Amino acid sequence: MTDQVDIPGTPGQVLALIRAHGDVTRAELVDRTGLARATVGARLDALQRAGLIAPAEMTSTSRGRPPSRFRFRHEGGALLIADSGATGVRLAVTDLAGTVEAQSRLSLDIATGPDEWLDAVMSAFTGMLDELGLSGSAVHGIGLALPGPVDNVAGMVVSPPIMTGWDRYPIRDKLATHFTCPVVVENDANAMAIGEHRLAHPDVSSMLMLKLATGIGAGLIAGGAIFRGADGAAGDIGHIQVVVPEEGTPPQCRCGNQGCIEAYAGGWALVRDLQDAGLEVATVHDAVQLIASGDPTATRLLRRAGRIIGIALSDAVSLLNPEVVVIGGELAAAENHLFAGIRESVYARSLPLATRRLQIVPAAERELAGVRGLVTALCDHLYEPSRVDAQLASAAGVHA
Ligand SMILES: [Zn+2]
Repeated sequence: MTDQVDIPGTPGQVLALIRAHGDVTRAELVDRTGLARATVGARLDALQRAGLIAPAEMTSTSRGRPPSRFRFRHEGGALLIADSGATGVRLAVTDLAGTVEAQSRLSLDIATGPDEWLDAVMSAFTGMLDELGLSGSAVHGIGLALPGPVDNVAGMVVSPPIMTGWDRYPIRDKLATHFTCPVVVENDANAMAIGEHRLAHPDVSSMLMLKLATGIGAGLIAGGAIFRGADGAAGDIGHIQVVVPEEGTPPQCRCGNQGCIEAYAGGWALVRDLQDAGLEVATVHDAVQLIASGDPTATRLLRRAGRIIGIALSDAVSLLNPEVVVIGGELAAAENHLFAGIRESVYARSLPLATRRLQIVPAAERELAGVRGLVTALCDHLYEPSRVDAQLASAAGVHA
């Protein structure tokens, strides 16, 4: 045999083909990789020994013959997914293909600080795994989305405007005291952008994902891939400052500045304004309920929020010329009035060429958009072909 490094279609690449196409036959793999039949057989054996793939057919029809169809062994482990906003976190335990086996939502303020916050999330995960009858060793990876700028290589939050105690906190070291598996950390809006792009708009090369929840953030897809900027801070649209003449003195933002988009139109600002109008609301969830009930003050404030968000969005549209703007997050559940306000500003303020083909649509995965995106990012990492090859090589070394 020649040097393996020069052969296309490593085991990791064969696994990528199987994951992308569902079940695949030996003959299809020979076709797609250009490898010899015997080499494909060796790749399949290695992947099967590692528990990554399984025969896709019942053995009764092929007694005595090696199986001819293979599939990804999605049931071979579990992923832990935590998609956090500023005041709450959605937790999911999924199989290795991202099918949700259990989910819950915790009210947990990110300002609690990383130690307490991560302990609470990990203990909730332990409870969910117990209920599913799974042990910690079944966990193959953890995906975590946080509402601040993230250095996703280091797995750290960097200089967040509001997350006290999180700046450069060693999240992976902390999680390693609970689970020994790879950890992917993403910005919350980036996670949604990755998921919505891959699952709902895979052929779009330029997309803007706007997350409207307690805070406001955006994730950018440019040239078909997530665009992070120089320091992972791209898309921090919520702290763009605007002057809205009819609003008088610009409101104070959580970040210390005045007149940020989120200080007018974020979930927390909406709660503030509803309270000022004498309505009984304590959380963004209450505000969304009030809007759903048709309360005239709440719907008027939401439409105004949409118009102000649209001011910053129209600048982003002029700069980036996205084909699709996807809007998700808790506030997007109240889409009618919000979208009307956003469209009003964007079409009035952007240049016609930038909006000629522009679509403004709700997140296809709704409240699971962040979870789906984290699964996508985590699986891209776990099953990156060179990573799989390295694992198989080290396992073979141990057994030799
Ligand atoms: Zn701000």
